[in-house]
Amino acid sequence: MRRIISCTLILFLALQYDPIAGAGTALPSEKDSQSVGVTRPNVVLVIVDTLRGDMLFGQGNGVPVMPKLAVLAHDSRTFTAAACPCSWTRPSMVSLFTGQHVDGHRVYFGCGPDGVVASNTDFFPDGWHTLAEALANAGYTNYAFVTNPNVAPGLGMEQGFPPENYLYEVNAPAARVTGAAIERAVSLPEPFFMYLHYMDPHVPYNPPPEHSEVFGKLPPLTDTDCNALLPDIQIHYLIDSFQCSLDPARVPQFEPLSDGGKNAMRMHYWGECHYADHQVAYLVDMLRTRYPNTLFIITSDHGEQFWEHGGMGHGTNLYEESIHVPLIFHGPGIAVATINKPVSTVGLYKTLAAFLSLQIDVRLSGSDLLDAIPTPYPVISRTRGPEPGLPIDLQSVRVGEDKLILDIKSGMQALYQLKSDPREHTNTTDTRYSVLRELASLLDQHNAAMAKIDLPETKALVQPINPETREQLDALGYTGLDASAGTMSGSTVRKAP
Ligand SMILES: [Zn+2]
Repeated sequence: MRRIISCTLILFLALQYDPIAGAGTALPSEKDSQSVGVTRPNVVLVIVDTLRGDMLFGQGNGVPVMPKLAVLAHDSRTFTAAACPCSWTRPSMVSLFTGQHVDGHRVYFGCGPDGVVASNTDFFPDGWHTLAEALANAGYTNYAFVTNPNVAPGLGMEQGFPPENYLYEVNAPAARVTGAAIERAVSLPEPFFMYLHYMDPHVPYNPPPEHSEVFGKLPPLTDTDCNALLPDIQIHYLIDSFQCSLDPARVPQFEPLSDGGKNAMRMHYWGECHYADHQVAYLVDMLRTRYPNTLFIITSDHGEQFWEHGGMGHGTNLYEESIHVPLIFHGPGIAVATINKPVSTVGLYKTLAAFLSLQIDVRLSGSDLLDAIPTPYPVISRTRGPEPGLPIDLQSVRVGEDKLILDIKSGMQALYQLKSDPREHTNTTDTRYSVLRELASLLDQHNAAMAKIDLPETKALVQPINPETREQLDALGYTGLDASAGTMSGSTVRKAP
């Protein structure tokens, strides 16, 4: 059993550069807070897996995709340009729970090809101090209901949760998560912390009919389209598409989807988002009625691509469709505002530490998102794909409307001006040298700081994962990928001058 309270924190974060890290000011201790009669709110952290940032206020065929949470967002502190630390689940969630950038915690990958967790690059070791541990330390009762095998018990995310309160049901529908949380809240001593991880917008897209039909009838489909849209086939189509994008010589198993087939795939995704919208909104309504002193945070671990840059799925690039996520803070004491500045969800832990006056012994990255957002604010994301051997090693930094994507292995760079080119189609490295130098310098400084972070001590770096979890990861395409492919194709990244 993992420790609920991390007593032997062995971190020496010698950060010489982090423009959005705190100044190192000691936060008030729990004892200090209690002595002045502070009543901490309950905290409900909702992760809607694979939820693109443009879904919250977006439309599908003229119909709002997430109408209920859009209303909630207007009565909340809502960020319209939030980015996640990584474009796939495990590194992103470890960042949220450690308050560290991906290159700080270095949990980059899934399990190895034989189902063995071989190092702390693919496992969340228990030496890390986590948000859940800090909350438990402050007297919170922790409860989680998770549905993605990347955060299954045994992979480290359960740190800080009593084992009986870390529930895992792979791909459980949103109604199951919402219902269980509402029921469990009755018997949870306050203050409680709930981490609820919804899986619905992740493949396979198979929404309840009432949530897909709102977007109209499906377009005419070919036999190939119909086959690829089957829930059991979708992931195989996605992996095949991904493998072919990495290796042009590979013979595809599936014929390309027609335009109608691609639209139908998007409609299925919208339906899942619409379903999650209704379920999360119902959860908020129920819990805030019974427990008015509750802070809700609603966000996602990453987005999802639908052929904007040649492929489907997530984890393989850092374009906006993959890293832009919704971010909502709602509850007592949260000033209603819409923040259009780019921010990173890596600051979630720091935000809660400040808001709840938690005692934290480790320096957290990111910005306090309930305070004024610093300017300039570099937003940094990173992905190496779920498998160590894949030719994916990308880093991005955004400052204002300028965004640089760096392919670390090849040295290729792409610079985008998001205001005039929100779809990231025009690489401006040839014409905007000063901006390129500025952003590249920020990445260099960030990387130098990350390299100085010592990893915490850990136990058991080599261990087989639970076979059932391995099977569930396989089913979602997180293992067994062919790592023999060559360079990225279909990318607009090219060599800087
Ligand atoms: Zn995910």
